[in-house]
Parts: sequence; structure tokens; C-alpha cells
Amino acid sequence: MSSLTSFHKLAQQVKGFLEPEEGQRLYELALEVAHRKGPCLEIGSYCGKSAIYLGAACKERGSTLYSIDHHRGSEEQQPGEFYFDPELFNPFLYRVDTVAHFRKTLQMAELEDVVVPLVASSVAVSRSWGTPLSLLFIDGGHAYETVLADYERWSPHVAPDGYLVFHDIFPNPDDGGQAPYEVYQKAVSTGRFQVLPMTGSLGVLYRGT
Ligand code: MG
Repeated sequence: MSSLTSFHKLAQQVKGFLEPEEGQRLYELALEVAHRKGPCLEIGSYCGKSAIYLGAACKERGSTLYSIDHHRGSEEQQPGEFYFDPELFNPFLYRVDTVAHFRKTLQMAELEDVVVPLVASSVAVSRSWGTPLSLLFIDGGHAYETVLADYERWSPHVAPDGYLVFHDIFPNPDDGGQAPYEVYQKAVSTGRFQVLPMTGSLGVLYRGT
């Protein structure tokens, strides 16, 4: 499997909340920078929809995608909550667990040698991380404290000439939760990033050289 079309096709079969045009933008951004300053890293693997696009670009560039998720699902995906999906409930662990779905996606996409799953909280991984990143994609928990922690702990690792990308940026509160947007605005207000046009709800910031 190699063409973007086949990755699009595969991504359609994977559970997740990323639109095809958002996936394509992630792919294009990663393709542009993944070979330059370091690997790409995403927070929020879920079932691997975005990892397909970022991973495809990394594969083409001989780079690596690190993908962090505790794989226990977010607050709104727990039993009884609005986004609960019974297919993601693991009876052995007796809780939501998306690891197997994520691994299945990597297997189908032939990305197992490109994408490194980190099954842990992003805070735990961040404690000893020291590698500059070509692209950081923040799409983990959407509570304000969670997005803020992801931003504060990980954005310093974005290399010069690299990208900081957020998912679920909704300038209009009627369209969705405001926490990612508030943290995105915080990043913009530092003046450290150039604001690029959005694709869907992808907020794209470029860290200059
Ligand atoms: Mg998202």
C-alpha cells in the first residue's frame, strides 16, 4: 500500500473523528517537514485514523511517528456517556480499551515499522522526552487542563521550521467545545508561531526558523 488514495480508503474504515480533508492536510504537513529536524509525534491515537495519514508521510520520508494514548478513552467515551462505543469495551480489562483497534489499523496500513505506539499518559512520556519534533499533533483529552498540559509539556519540543497542529479548533462555541481553541489561542498569543489557514477544525501553527 502506498498511494494517498489507498490510505484514504483505509482511514474510512477506522473509527475516529478526523475528516478526510483534515487527514490529507496532516499528511501534507508531515510530508513537508518529517525528514528535516526529527520525528513526528501525536497525542491521541484512538483507533489510528490520524496515524494513517501522519504515518504514511513518515514512511515516505523515512521518518517515525510516535503516537501517545493511554487507550482508555476520554471522559465522554466511557460507558453511559454520549460517545461510548460498545465495540471498544474490552471485557477482559472490563473497561474501554482501544489498543487492539489501533494495532489493527497499523497492521492494515503496513505502518508497524513506522509508527511507535506509546501506551501511557502524555504527561508520563513527557517527563523524559528530549527529542526535537518536526510536527506535533495535539488531539488528546479535550478538558482544558488536559489540552493545556499537552501544550505546555510538548510544544517546547517543536523544532524550528516545524509545525504545531491542534484538532477540534472551533472559534464558534456553537460548533464544539472551547478548550482546544483556548489553548490554541494561548499558543498564538506567544508570538512564537505563524498562524496558517485552517483545514476543517485543524489549527495549524508554524514555528519559524
Ligand atoms: Mg479530535
